[in-house]
Amino acid sequence: MKIVTSIKSMQLISRRIKERGCRIGFVPTMGALHQGHLSLIRRARKDNESVVVSIFVNPAQFGPREDFDKYPRDFKKDSRLCSEAGVDFIFYPCAQEMYPEGYKTYITVNGLSDVLCGRSRPGHFRGVATVVSKLFNIVQADVAYFGQKDAQQAIIIKKMVSDLNMPVNVKILPTIREKDGLAMSSRNVYLGKDERKESVVLYQALVLAGKMVKKGTRICAVIIKKMKSLIEKSKNAKIDYVEIVDLDNLSPIKEIKDKALVALAVRIGKTRLIDNIIINPNGNIGI
Ligand code: AMP
Repeated sequence: MKIVTSIKSMQLISRRIKERGCRIGFVPTMGALHQGHLSLIRRARKDNESVVVSIFVNPAQFGPREDFDKYPRDFKKDSRLCSEAGVDFIFYPCAQEMYPEGYKTYITVNGLSDVLCGRSRPGHFRGVATVVSKLFNIVQADVAYFGQKDAQQAIIIKKMVSDLNMPVNVKILPTIREKDGLAMSSRNVYLGKDERKESVVLYQALVLAGKMVKKGTRICAVIIKKMKSLIEKSKNAKIDYVEIVDLDNLSPIKEIKDKALVALAVRIGKTRLIDNIIINPNGNIGI
């Protein structure tokens, strides 16, 4: 496994791989790797001759009062995990390499970026779309792997790739969870002991939504109300949003007639957690 820090070298390496007729599978991450990331990496390993993982805590996607400085970073452990998972290259640039002085170009996917998480994190998805398109140009991946855990992000990236005719196939893989159902996240390390116990309420609310649909409830307002009252029972939980939206345009839907995204963001103490499931009128899928 090779660690590559310069954009030029990464582009040269990728060009050589492609000249040999090999496919590049790419997993963009911010590091602090866990089993969620590793499930994407393993799939990339299975499907492609070459695997590139990027590790870059992207300043452009953090708001001024967000956790950029304290975001967990452990490159030594991450590179060990990547090496064990059979990764060929880690692309590990510094912020100066990605955003040199005078940097001016940003990508906004209109309509999808200012709803759900975008409402409380203005500019976040502009930062995400920008860095991911830069990474696609650098790594020249054939297939890029994203987690359903960040469903809005995955939907935005898919739209960007389609609108800008980017020659990359985007695959979205299921959310990996802890035993009690909490979605794995690099931010879970922020949770204190009691908060960690309470954080399972996000998953419980999603399970409740799935059960209600299975039993025949179709009206979203009714489902959302029940989910919110379950979450509100938790003393450190503060709801950012609980919504049921269309999978393509992320706009709220009134009644479940087709596949829909049930998405929520909840603060447990100071830690903002997100989770989601996809449900259809017969019950929940893609949990
Ligand atoms: P991050 O390092 O948080 O930016 O995440 C990098 C990639 O890993 C994104 O595509 C995430 O959606 C994905 N990911 C993060 N957590 C999980 C999880 N629990 N299960 C599956 N994928 C995940």
